[in-house]
Amino acid sequence: MSLKVPSIEAPRLGEPFLLTPGPLTTSYDAKAAMLKDWGSWDGDFRRMTQQMRDRLIEMLGSGHENFDCVPMQGSGSFSVEAMLGSFVPKDGKVLVLSNGAYGQRAAKTLTYLKREHIVLDKGDYLPPRGEEVSKILKADEDITHVVAVHCETSSGILNPIEEISDATYKAGRKLLVDSMSAFGAIPIEPNKIKYEAVVSSANKCIEGVPGFGFILARKSALEAAKGNSHSLCLDLHDQWSHMNKTGQWRYTPPTHVLAAFLVALEAHRKEGGVIGRGARYNKNKNTLVSGMRSIGFEALLGERWLSPIIVTFFCPADPRFDFTQFYDLMKSKGFIIYPGKLTVVDSFRIGCIGQMDNQIMLKVVKAAKQSLQEMGVSDASPPTKALDERKRLQS
Ligand SMILES: *Cc1c(COP(=O)(O)O)cnc(C)c1O
Repeated sequence: MSLKVPSIEAPRLGEPFLLTPGPLTTSYDAKAAMLKDWGSWDGDFRRMTQQMRDRLIEMLGSGHENFDCVPMQGSGSFSVEAMLGSFVPKDGKVLVLSNGAYGQRAAKTLTYLKREHIVLDKGDYLPPRGEEVSKILKADEDITHVVAVHCETSSGILNPIEEISDATYKAGRKLLVDSMSAFGAIPIEPNKIKYEAVVSSANKCIEGVPGFGFILARKSALEAAKGNSHSLCLDLHDQWSHMNKTGQWRYTPPTHVLAAFLVALEAHRKEGGVIGRGARYNKNKNTLVSGMRSIGFEALLGERWLSPIIVTFFCPADPRFDFTQFYDLMKSKGFIIYPGKLTVVDSFRIGCIGQMDNQIMLKVVKAAKQSLQEMGVSDASPPTKALDERKRLQS
């Protein structure tokens, strides 16, 4: 397969690059697609919706025939809530695998939905393992569903979704996956990894603008979801059956966002689909991590758990390092970075997704080096406490 090198054109508008995991830097063409108004009931727009649904299902790869796509208005969390409320029956019980903010949010959502659940809390970044899942499911027969986060964007860890899926289905339970920040760049083929539904959104690896999410679910799960939802607006079964009947979204769709998304989807296809997109992000990540290491920074995660989506770096121990100042210096050089979310040590994050290639990542490293110099930080190595933390991961 020949991969087309994507054209990187954010500077055309003089904007900084968003090194954040969504909203992220989109292409000029995707933005330009929003310069037209669409009638939501019109045949053209209905065809656009269908085209998007077909393409997203196709992207799943082998085994996709049993799936359908239900888009949902709102940010990604609205789609997670729609998935949980629609697929977990009112008398179901959920095991939430949490190692960061998004696992915690899933658990909090279930509390709001009054769905019984327990949480395997692995802290900031330790991966939930298949063995642990097996043990918990064996001990608790009432658990009907497991919820897992594919790439936990708060640390950047790529969770072992395959072994989690194996453990779940070996125990006869069902898996729901938050693949918000991974879908489109990391394969999740139904024939290789079993699950009931996976959720993602417009503004992550497909590189669209924010405004809706989508759930790719087994048709059998969608059929069984009738009457489960706590919410009219977030009822996936209702959105699905209405869309299949009329070709329309229930309630006002984000028309411009969908128009931009179709352009982004086409660029994704041209880049070589999930494999091509993943390859570019991986190269971004490798360039970033080796570059940052070369100027003294350390990444939180070892190779085994690093995702090509976003990387967490420890803040340097040097007292002259100040994150707010570092952020402003990076921004003045054209790069918006992201604060960290670790509770034990100070950190920051740099995203690898969006309209950026490894040449841009080299410039990111150069900007970081200059920013350190401007702050008077000569040594970027983290405090020993941070390195001790990292050791826990490897043991
Ligand atoms: C982005 C993201 C979400 C959704 O966040 P929103 O701010 O609601 O779009 C959920 N889970 C993960 C893993 C994410 O990266």
